[in-house]
Amino acid sequence: MTYDTVIVDSHVILPQGMVNKNIVIDEEKIVDFTSDVPSCDNKINGNGLISIPGVIDPHVHYGVYSSIEKAAGTESHAAAIGGITTMMRMLRLGGSYKNSLIPQLIASSQSHYIDYSIHASIFNNQQIDEMKFCLDKWITSFKLYMNLGGDVGHVYMDMEPGTNSLREAKVEITSEIIQKVVQNAASLGCPVLVHAEDYEMCSCGIKTAKEKNEDGLAAWSQSRSTQSEVKSIKTISKFARECGCTLYFVHIGSADALNQILEEKKNGTKIFVETCPHYLTLSYEKQEGYLAKVMPPIRTSKDVESVWNAIHDGQINTIGTDHVANQLKLKLGGNDVWDALAGFPGIGTLLPILLSEGVNKNRISLEKLTQITSTNAAKIFGMYPNKGSLEKDSDADITMIDLKKEKKVTSDLFGGFSDYIVYAGWNLKGWPVKTIVRGTVVAENFEVIGKRGYGKMVVRKPTSLVAL
Ligand SMILES: [Zn+2]
Repeated sequence: MTYDTVIVDSHVILPQGMVNKNIVIDEEKIVDFTSDVPSCDNKINGNGLISIPGVIDPHVHYGVYSSIEKAAGTESHAAAIGGITTMMRMLRLGGSYKNSLIPQLIASSQSHYIDYSIHASIFNNQQIDEMKFCLDKWITSFKLYMNLGGDVGHVYMDMEPGTNSLREAKVEITSEIIQKVVQNAASLGCPVLVHAEDYEMCSCGIKTAKEKNEDGLAAWSQSRSTQSEVKSIKTISKFARECGCTLYFVHIGSADALNQILEEKKNGTKIFVETCPHYLTLSYEKQEGYLAKVMPPIRTSKDVESVWNAIHDGQINTIGTDHVANQLKLKLGGNDVWDALAGFPGIGTLLPILLSEGVNKNRISLEKLTQITSTNAAKIFGMYPNKGSLEKDSDADITMIDLKKEKKVTSDLFGGFSDYIVYAGWNLKGWPVKTIVRGTVVAENFEVIGKRGYGKMVVRKPTSLVAL
């Protein structure tokens, strides 16, 4: 028999550790690991490279500042160059999912270079009633924004496919909504993703800082204090504990938030934790300008250290980018930090940052890297074992990395929608050189060679009882 593809001579990170084997691929799946080279149509030379499970970015915002049929092309292009094989969209819609989900799915289906999935944000009672409808469309995880309400309740929803107008909305995430979402998610067996910042505390902090004419990223951080994260972690953990809902705290980047989560886990709440590359690399003490404005804010270098420690201790389960595909003219449209838009692009640099700052600086092992960039997300979000692991019968989603490759980051390296990047000028060591999705090479040496529309929506199932 002749197989489709064999990757020869790479070091392969299997669940049980690193081995030197050839990876045999047929009909989009991994079918074997061998020492000989069986007959095949394509041979990929992996000499000097390491094959890891395709990277999953569980937290991506695209379709907000350009419509999804365009954004899926540009942002999955950036993702593919960055070694990502599955991207998970934070879908935000204002009205009814029953009315507006299908056009989003159709527009998405023709446009991605890599595989993708969707988390649905829930903003109101009608959407709570539509969670089951979403679940039947393979959307098996839901997002709550505890930072939105009162005079800080403004948010941009995702654009309508085929249009080019921003959709500003005002929402109010009350404790009644929070409680109902966790109860409903628990009964459906789905995790709830939580943006944990208390909007009343944030609103108050911003008002005070503006009155004092404060500016800059330090003021931004102090106006949304770590205590506002702690407060909302406490509130939702109690609700979740009462009904047995699994929580997934997104973008955790402060020592205080991490400590409170430990406390809530001791109290019996089932919790997973995500951080982002910026909480591992940036602090407001060293960062100038407004480009790194984000919610929650980047904190101190002490907080950065605590996030690395939490990865080491196993308290952090996943790395998401919180990638926002926006552009400078919107980002810096105003005069001060308060007017600047929050969020920045980062999907292309997730893996190189972790290789350069993590693996190559001996802060994390390759095995830990694969857990937090792939395996854990696949398990938490119901994609394992098709995704998240190099095993027989799993999808041949493979990222091949060169730990010695050095390259300077520029905003146009990834070909995304954004015209800036907070890591511009950083010389990173350790880069993906081949991104393989279901057996097909979609990107190679900073160039996308795959076809738009090849990426498929991942079939997912509810996962309430998952253990990592
Ligand atoms: Zn986000």
